[in-house]
Order: sequence, then C-alpha cells, then structure tokens
Amino acid sequence: MRLQGKTILITAAGQGIGRASALACAAEGARVIATDINGALLESLAAEGAGIDTRLLDVRDSAAIAALAASLPPLDGLFNCAGFVHHGTVLDCDEAAWDFSFDLNVKGAYRLIRAFLPGMLEKMKQDGSFGSVINMASIASSVKGLPNRFVYGATKAAVIGMSKAIAADYAKVGLRCNALCPGTVDTPSLRGRIAGAADPVQAEKDFIARQPLGRLATVEDIAPQVVYLLSDESCFVTGQAVMVDGGISI
Ligand code: NAD
Repeated sequence: MRLQGKTILITAAGQGIGRASALACAAEGARVIATDINGALLESLAAEGAGIDTRLLDVRDSAAIAALAASLPPLDGLFNCAGFVHHGTVLDCDEAAWDFSFDLNVKGAYRLIRAFLPGMLEKMKQDGSFGSVINMASIASSVKGLPNRFVYGATKAAVIGMSKAIAADYAKVGLRCNALCPGTVDTPSLRGRIAGAADPVQAEKDFIARQPLGRLATVEDIAPQVVYLLSDESCFVTGQAVMVDGGISI
C-alpha cells in the first residue's frame, strides 16, 4: 500500500479527477478526506469508496476551511483540485469573471495551504514523515496558450508559480509542493463544455485532435500521478509542473 498511514485531503472530490484521485488514494491505504461543494456527489462517493470520509467544503469560504482544519488531524497530503474553466478571450472576461476564476482557482488553493500547512509542518517535525502538496494547474497555463482559455490560463500559470514558491520556501524542511498539468480529460465538466459548443461533434474532435496521443485522457490516467506525488516514492520531486498531457506540450 503506497499511501498506508497517510491522511490526505482532496478538494473538488465529488466528480472528475478529484473523485478518481480520492478512490485511488483510498485504494493505496490512505485515510482520505474528500471534500466538495456538492453534497449529493459526496454521498455517491462515500457509497462507492469504502472508508472515504466526506466533508462539504467550498474552497472560497475561508471560515469553513479554518473550521475544517481545526476539526481534523494534521495532514500528510493535500491535493487542491478545485477549479473552474471560463470559456473565452480577454474581451469575453469582465472583471467579475476574472475575480471569480482567480478566487476559485488560485486563492482557493492558497486558503487551503494557509490553513493546513502549519499542521503538516508540525507533524513532519514530530514524526519525521514527508508532507506533500499538489496544486491542480493545467497544460493551459504558462506551459501553453490555448484559444478561449484567457483567464483560465492566467489562473493556472499562477498556480504553477505559487507551487514553485512554496516548494522553494519549504524544501529545507522536506515539505514538497508540485503542480499537476493535465491535458484534456474526459470529466463531467468537459462533457458540459462539449455539449455547450455550437457543434458538439466537431468540438469533441477538436479536443481530441490537439492531443498527439489521439484521445482524451480518462480520470484513471491522471489519478496515478496524484498517488505518486503524494507518496514517498516522489520524495525527491518538488517545485515541478508535472505534465500528464497526451503530448500537447511536446
Ligand atoms: P469537474 O470540473 O468535472 O468537477 C469539478 C468539481 O468541483 C465538482 O465536483 C464541483 O462540485 C466542485 N466544485 C465546484 N466549485 C467548488 C468550490 N467552490 N469548492 C469546492 N468544490 C467545488 O472536474 P475536472 O474536470 O476533473 O476538473 C478538476 C480540476 O482539474 C480543475 O481544477 C480543472 O481546472 C483541472 N483540469 C481539468 C482538465 C480537464 O480537461 N477536465 C484539464 C486540466 C486541468
């Protein structure tokens, strides 16, 4: 069991990559605290994944995050997965849309790290364990500009910068922080984006065409990277933007 004895918290674990990651971490022996804003999704996750502890959590709610941190034992791993995909160019992005995306995609992760990092660092000091933080970025970021991903790409570039800064600050005490950069992953929200396109059949073809491996990723393609980065197998990996992108960044 690669995560035996570890306590791991995941945001946006109700569906998509976060859910698959929660199930994969539990299967590797972790105590998983799976959080999401959507209670119905958490109920179905709890029914599917034996031993997964579910908690309602909005990553935009600082008070709720502080209360959750106070109610839980210290973490070994934190996976900030929550994020929103705004569709459009700079001219489609008004200030409210900008603020919303940055608040959820960047400040959400910042809030969780501020609340949980002190406990992680203290636990590491006391028992010699290794703490690991993963922040969800994307290939659409400082890695690559993609059409109609203006504010999304800006937020995910910020997530990479934030992850490198945290990695630099805490490397000396052994706390690792990495950013995960998937390509296009078949999740409920991607299906929504395809269904909402003017020509959904063409939209799906276009999403597939931009990935050299010739298909969409499944959530099961991404979850093993999460397990790896949270496990001690990756104990010499920090400050990286880890691509799991079907070759988009080649
Ligand atoms: P998704 O978009 O299908 O699901 C998102 C989940 O987030 C839902 O369960 C939703 O209830 C939850 N959520 C929404 N607002 C929240 C909030 N304020 N607080 C807590 N939870 C909230 O999942 P996905 O497509 O797997 O995306 C997950 C992450 O992966 C996002 O950060 C996304 O940007 C990133 N990502 C996705 C892809 C992709 O192609 N799907 C590619 C690269 C990166």
